[in-house]
Amino acid sequence: MLKRWLCVLVLLAGCAAEYPKTGPRTIVWHIEDPVTIQYLWDQMNPENPIFIDGFANWGGEYCHIWTPELTEETLYIFLHELRHCVDGHFHDD
Ligand SMILES: [Zn+2]
Repeated sequence: MLKRWLCVLVLLAGCAAEYPKTGPRTIVWHIEDPVTIQYLWDQMNPENPIFIDGFANWGGEYCHIWTPELTEETLYIFLHELRHCVDGHFHDD
């Protein structure tokens, strides 16, 4: 199981988001199928063509999180992207 989560970490390496350092933030959570999530990533990030399971980005006053349907296995993806909405680009890459 740990190996799987480490793979998720690597796969999510490109999901950085610019974010406000302070103040309230509104999260918009988009639940989509994996193919749609990958398509949206590719459209929004043509300079970074990587495989992803989910991503977060800021649009106006909203932080948008894109994940597949929530299950025990995909909960980590949501929490990872939520952290991007709070801490911006928090992982090393
Ligand atoms: Zn990330």
